[in-house]
Amino acid sequence: MNIKDISNNDILSWLKDHGQPAFRAKQLHEWLYSKLAISFDEMTNMPQGLRNALSQDFNCCSLKELQQLVSEDKTVKWLFELEDGNTIETVLIKAPERNTVCISTQVGCQVHCLFCASGKKGLVRNLTSSEIIDQVIFVSRHIGKLISNIVVMGMGEPLHNFQNLTTALDIICSHDGLGLGARHVTISTSGIPNATRRLAEMGRPWNLAVSLHAVNDRIRASIIPPKHRAPIADILKAANDYREATGRMVTLEYILIKGINASMDDALQLAAIARDLHSKVNLIPSNSDDPHFPPPPADECAAFLAILTKRNVQATLRMRKGKDINAACGQLRRRFQEDT
Ligand code: SAH
Ligand code: SF4
Repeated sequence: MNIKDISNNDILSWLKDHGQPAFRAKQLHEWLYSKLAISFDEMTNMPQGLRNALSQDFNCCSLKELQQLVSEDKTVKWLFELEDGNTIETVLIKAPERNTVCISTQVGCQVHCLFCASGKKGLVRNLTSSEIIDQVIFVSRHIGKLISNIVVMGMGEPLHNFQNLTTALDIICSHDGLGLGARHVTISTSGIPNATRRLAEMGRPWNLAVSLHAVNDRIRASIIPPKHRAPIADILKAANDYREATGRMVTLEYILIKGINASMDDALQLAAIARDLHSKVNLIPSNSDDPHFPPPPADECAAFLAILTKRNVQATLRMRKGKDINAACGQLRRRFQEDT
């Protein structure tokens, strides 16, 4: 059991049972959240006997590094094993002015987008909030300081694990926790209107990215199965409510797939949607293992971008970082499962 999943009251009574003073709880908290400890052995201002007893009953970090891959562009990708043997991926994207960690929220995903490796085998389970926090701690230790940005764009649909995600982010963003600014967090969702509204009601200034991927429900139906796919109108309405409630600009993510959603007419319609929502657009050329979902040629991607920009929509064509290390969502885990 990860110590971060134990309530303060339970820690206090555990300490009492072990003949320890209550101030040890504060020391423990400092080690976990300010000093980013991942083992009780690091907690050198606590007696050795107490450290031993703690490690017998709890663990400090839920992640065991199975693989670490570094790409040519310095993107680092980890494959971690969890306590129950499941595996997840976490990615560090380095840029001169910031270090961004891309975190997972579920083992697998039940939305099952056809181009995505994470959803291929369905959902195994939700991550606990400590498993979510530990990804941020582990990567922060790797760079020797707290990470500057978080994107919740790894494996899983974050809003299908609402409670653990928001608990984890509240701890990550509180002064008493890791102390990261909430404006430096972006949650990416495939579009779950009710959960988006629930998030809006929380009023935290987290950024929202919506994986729209299509300008109408017919095209969207060809890449996302019906079970967890909401109508585009509902998704956009919820995204607009989010923007109004939090004052944060929403980003639309749009994977470009040749012959499916990348025509110039699609670009015109996407520009209109983005303008209505006052949103930015991130274009991502498809990087799928599946030959049915190829990216358009580079000049078509550039022409798609130009149509948006010409209509005064703030848009970027995101070149996939870490392509040589399978950095697209769920790809490393899938390779690993196929190899073993
Ligand atoms: N489930 C959430 C967050 C994780 S996926 C969501 O769907 O938004 C993060 C982003 O990666 C999404 O925009 C998703 O559509 C995109 N993605 C997944 N597989 C991809 C692939 N093979 N090529 C390009 N983008 C992909
Ligand atoms: Fe799940 Fe996002 Fe992958 Fe779709 S793209 S299967 S929602 S992780």
